[in-house]
Amino acid sequence: MTTLRIAEIFGPTIQGEGALIGEPTLFVRAGGCDYRCAWCDSLHAVDSAYRHTWAPMSSEEVWAELRRLSGDRPLTISLSGGNPAIQDFGPLIALGRAAGYRFACETQGSVARPWFGDLDTLVLSPKPPSSGEQVDWDAFAECVAAGHAARSTVMKIVIFDRADYDWAKSAHARHPDLPLFLQPGNPEVDPEVPVDPQGLADRLGWLTETAMADSWFVPRILPQLHVLIWGNKRGV
Ligand code: SF4
Repeated sequence: MTTLRIAEIFGPTIQGEGALIGEPTLFVRAGGCDYRCAWCDSLHAVDSAYRHTWAPMSSEEVWAELRRLSGDRPLTISLSGGNPAIQDFGPLIALGRAAGYRFACETQGSVARPWFGDLDTLVLSPKPPSSGEQVDWDAFAECVAAGHAARSTVMKIVIFDRADYDWAKSAHARHPDLPLFLQPGNPEVDPEVPVDPQGLADRLGWLTETAMADSWFVPRILPQLHVLIWGNKRGV
């Protein structure tokens, strides 16, 4: 039996970003990540200092909690993290799909999994230079290939500065067939510190104006809705 390390299960709430923005969603946040991004907003699901808070759960136990939270109404379930791709979510996806639930997964694209093909939406989110991480583009291409049978595969990139913006253009050039979503980075990741609404608006404005001035009309540029509504609060 597969044992999953689970940092959080919560919802229903709305998906706050990317291709499914605004969609009622249940979230399963996997514990553990092979990256350490400088601005990670989910350290409680990444840093081994929080490992003791990650619940070991079988796929059946996770599924039972999702059914309870949704009242057995089929919703979209988003697998996030951490990096959910370092764990085996195939059995959970099979359980949920049999009951009519839809699955999305967000991963940086460093580890390919056969179950990517069983997803409705695969969100590949390669990390730009400001993260301090290096993308393995061969591994990323394997993720794209593994998601071939998914209903849709998209690319989402967080942008903190001009270098990230230029990098996003080169990332798109590598995979021009993937719909592209950009969102401004949020440097305020402490859940105890209130976010600065004007700062959020300024960063979104800068990114929008940069793309328009550059006549780059490829990406959709979106805010993080959940940050606008709830700041950096967890479990929403
Ligand atoms: S890949 Fe995502 S979860 Fe992992 S460290 Fe980077 S931002 Fe955090």
